[in-house]
Amino acid sequence: MTSTTWIDEIDPNRALRSPSHPGLVRDGVPVDLDAAADAVRSLLVALGQDVHSVHLQDTPRRVAAAYAELLTSEPFTLTTFPNDGRYDELVLVREIPFRSLCEHHLLPFHGVAHIGYLPDERIVGLSKLARVAEHFARGLQVQERLTQQIANCLQENLRAKGVAVVLEAEHLCMSLRGVRAHGAHTVTSTLLGLHREHPATRQEFFTLARVRH
Ligand SMILES: [Zn+2]
Repeated sequence: MTSTTWIDEIDPNRALRSPSHPGLVRDGVPVDLDAAADAVRSLLVALGQDVHSVHLQDTPRRVAAAYAELLTSEPFTLTTFPNDGRYDELVLVREIPFRSLCEHHLLPFHGVAHIGYLPDERIVGLSKLARVAEHFARGLQVQERLTQQIANCLQENLRAKGVAVVLEAEHLCMSLRGVRAHGAHTVTSTLLGLHREHPATRQEFFTLARVRH
């Protein structure tokens, strides 16, 4: 018997894209592309740019569309299966690429996620681990919260013996501006269950994920 969770039921802050509304929907509020484009135009003017230049004519519309895309997540189903084979070793997917938007600067941060779990009664399709990361990465985020949301979502649905999530990311707000720390990687982790409580389990995850810690 499979068990299906509509991912947006897990996180009520995430609204579905409404089929009756051609626009983009997030957090129950439609993204107003026209208003966003107007705001981008105002921003360009405030930044001293010539919005009447042929080169910038379509920029407000394109920027609005780009942000709408980065902030909107497609709903999907997180299907779990009975662990009939009683597999009881670590399941790990390494280096899942993700990108998100820093809520402090509206600049991207991007990197890879390593997601592992120790199954109990249920297992999940491996591609769904990447989908969970993608789902929570869409939106204004901080890396710490994103890491926790991925781990908590998996634990709520899998009731695994342990869940471990590590994100390694470069933040453009740090590498392009401010201290200009090019190539600096921020590493965050959330460990639940045996991955938190049992040093050998935690060590196995870090070793297989090839994360220095
Ligand atoms: Zn930032």
